[in-house]
Amino acid sequence: MKAVGNYLKGQENLSYAISGFLDEGSRLKCDKCQSLNSPFYFDSHLNLKKKNLDFSSTYEGANIVSEKFKRFCIGNNLENLLFTPLESADGFYHFQVLGKTAEVDIEKSKFTVGALCSICGFNTEIFGGVELFIRNKKLSGFYTTDIIWRTHFVFRPRFIVDLETTKLLKDEKFKGLYFENVYSA
Ligand SMILES: [Zn+2]
Repeated sequence: MKAVGNYLKGQENLSYAISGFLDEGSRLKCDKCQSLNSPFYFDSHLNLKKKNLDFSSTYEGANIVSEKFKRFCIGNNLENLLFTPLESADGFYHFQVLGKTAEVDIEKSKFTVGALCSICGFNTEIFGGVELFIRNKKLSGFYTTDIIWRTHFVFRPRFIVDLETTKLLKDEKFKGLYFENVYSA
């Protein structure tokens, strides 16, 4: 079993990315499954509770990065990344990977995927799985998974990076950034 990359995990920053989501009658909520009706929705006014981390995760799984992390990505010409500034915390950004997709091998990863919600069209839930297998044989730079995981009624993809970039990221010792192996199916 050979690792082809890593997915990035952020330390929890004790913050919520989406204010008003849980409110009664919120338009952000799917009427049927009660989940967020867009996997990419994000509130740039979020109250960031921990500002000592370079890479962190809100309760809903949105990734927040520091200026240092952003500068590293730009300095290393890493592409297809989106940094949305937080209006409430100078020097911090909502981090997303767009465009390049890693295809998750559901079977090899031993995931059980729930039926799609007939209204919003997102997976109801993904259960099980220990190691993450993808179908891509070789990676270069950042990728986003083609399936999305649910946390607190919010759906988020996972962000995967190749081995070479993993090494560069580890050398920088970013606070709050952890890595999990991704294998090729
Ligand atoms: Zn739904």
